[in-house]
Amino acid sequence: MHSSADCLFCKIVAGKIPVQRLAEDDAALAFPDINPQAPVHVLVVPKLHVESLDEIKDDQWPLVGRIHALAVRVARDKGLTKSGFRTLFNTGPQAGQTVWHLHLHMLGGRSMMWPPG
Ligand code: 5GP
Ligand code: ZN
Repeated sequence: MHSSADCLFCKIVAGKIPVQRLAEDDAALAFPDINPQAPVHVLVVPKLHVESLDEIKDDQWPLVGRIHALAVRVARDKGLTKSGFRTLFNTGPQAGQTVWHLHLHMLGGRSMMWPPG
């Protein structure tokens, strides 16, 4: 269990750790990844503390749509719609999840491999 009290992304949502707030609404916040893996690498988080896609409760599924909508808004703002962009969740250790507050990665600005390594 990872509590919201010492959650990095809850602190970012609350403004206790400053980030560039790229886009925001009542449900979600988008900010740049601190260690970008592409020219554009944005994280979009729900303002509510949810640990992962696997921990989401039945009534919280709309949040997944809300964070996707915000990610696409940022992708459009950054002019990525023609070249393309990738959105993904890492869920659990084998997928590489390191922060236990749900976050959607939005990457763009370079060609990407498929399948991922
Ligand atoms: P995960 O590996 O859990 O899918 O992604 C966590 C992401 O959070 C990583 O890409 C990492 O670079 C990013 N990250 C970790 N700490 C911070 C931070 O303090 N600020 C920001 N903006 N991103 C962070
Ligand atoms: Zn949190």
